[in-house]
Amino acid sequence: MEDVVISGGDTYQLPAKNLRLIGDALLDIPHIKRMRFATKGPAIMPMKILTDHDWVDALTHVVERGRTLGKDVVLHTHFNSPNEITWITENAIRVLFERGIVVRNQSVLIRGVNDTPEVMQLLTQRLSYINVHPYYVYMHDMVRGVEDLRTTVQTACDIEKFVRGSTAGFNTPLFICDAPGGGGKRDVHSYEYYDRENGIAVYSAPSVKPGQFFMYFDPIDQLSPAAQHRWESPLVQEEMIAEALARAGGKSYVVA
Ligand SMILES: *Cc1c(COP(=O)(O)O)cnc(C)c1O
Repeated sequence: MEDVVISGGDTYQLPAKNLRLIGDALLDIPHIKRMRFATKGPAIMPMKILTDHDWVDALTHVVERGRTLGKDVVLHTHFNSPNEITWITENAIRVLFERGIVVRNQSVLIRGVNDTPEVMQLLTQRLSYINVHPYYVYMHDMVRGVEDLRTTVQTACDIEKFVRGSTAGFNTPLFICDAPGGGGKRDVHSYEYYDRENGIAVYSAPSVKPGQFFMYFDPIDQLSPAAQHRWESPLVQEEMIAEALARAGGKSYVVA
C-alpha cells in the first residue's frame, strides 16, 4: 500500500526524536508514497506548536525530507466547532503554513455541537481562513451510549447542500457515512435507497465490496412517533429493513 496513516496514538504525544524516527523509517520504505500524521492536538492545544520547537522541527524535517523524495507528508487534525478556532490556533497553524506543512481537518457531525448549516458553514470558512483544508465530515458512528449525539442522514445531506458553494470547492468537505460492514466511506448523498420515515439508509461500495449492501440507521428519537413505535417490534424491524434493502436492489446486507 502507498498510503500510511500514523494514528491510534496521538502524534502530539510523541517526543520529537520519536516523531523523527518513525517518519524517517516510513520514508525509507520504497512503496510508501503518502503519509499522514494524525492528531487532535492543534484543535485542543495549539500552544504546543508555538512553544515546542523541537516537535515542530521534527515534523518539518519529515515533511521536507519527504518532499526531496517525492513523497507527500501531511498533518491531519480534528476540529469540530468554529469555537475551537481562536487567535492562538491561527498563530499556531500559521507556523505550520510558513514551513509548508499541509494540514487537513476531519470532523464528526455531532448533534447540538455542529449539526446546523450555519455552524458547519462557519467551521468550513474558519478552517479555510487559517489554511486548514476541510477534508471530511463524518456521520457519527453507530456506537452504543451516544444516541443523543447522532444525527440523521437527512440532516447531513441538508448541511452538505448548504455548505457547498460557500467557499472554494477544494475547501469544501466531503460528508461521509462509514456504515458498519466494511464498505468504507461513502458520500452521504450516494445512498441506493433512503427510507426517511423509518430512518434506514442503504449504501453500496462497488469497487470495495461488489454486490454487498451496507445500512446506516438514523437515531430513533429523531423519527416520528409512529416510526419510533414501529422500531419497538422486532418483527416490524425485520420487515422495514428487508423492504429498504429490496428497494435498494439488494438481496442481503452486511452488519458489523
Ligand atoms: C478513513 C480511513 C482511512 C483513510 O482513508 P482516506 O479516505 O484515504 O482518507 C484508512 N483506513 C481506515 C480504516 C479508514 O477508516
